[in-house]
Amino acid sequence: MDRDRVAGSRNCCIISRCFDKQEDGIVRESSQCIYHPDVGAAADCQACGRPYCRACLVELGGKDYCRPCAEAGAGRVQQSAGELAVVALILSVSSIMFCGITAIPGMIIGFMELGKINRGEAPEAGRSMAKAAAIIGAVMTGLLVLSVLVGVVIMIVGIIIAVLAA
Ligand SMILES: [Zn+2]
Ligand SMILES: [Zn+2]
Repeated sequence: MDRDRVAGSRNCCIISRCFDKQEDGIVRESSQCIYHPDVGAAADCQACGRPYCRACLVELGGKDYCRPCAEAGAGRVQQSAGELAVVALILSVSSIMFCGITAIPGMIIGFMELGKINRGEAPEAGRSMAKAAAIIGAVMTGLLVLSVLVGVVIMIVGIIIAVLAA
């Protein structure tokens, strides 16, 4: 699949840092797409800095990359978990200490981050963290809701008893 094409491609950027822009001896117009000399460049790749047209660019985390850089960079970025996965886990775990309140955002962010990972928009390394955050957050949110319900029931029973006793 794509991997073979990338491996055979001369456009290695992030990993090997080789810039073979002029390997074929042609110095290209910087404002034209590398692959499509007759098409104006829409943006520069954020990793190798070379210009590409819209069709050649891949958006990754809000930034434009050329396809080889995007695919090479994906493996590099995935070494660390996404910030949101970490934040979600901190929120969910801290909910154990802070009476469950932070479990709700922890659970929501955890599930959001999981969705992003599934869509390839967030680093894969954050998956277990996001999953843990979502699960802990959900459990703590459940306990929170349960404790609120129990509290409400106790309150209502208390009111009823007070009313009956009066
Ligand atoms: Zn590139
Ligand atoms: Zn192009």
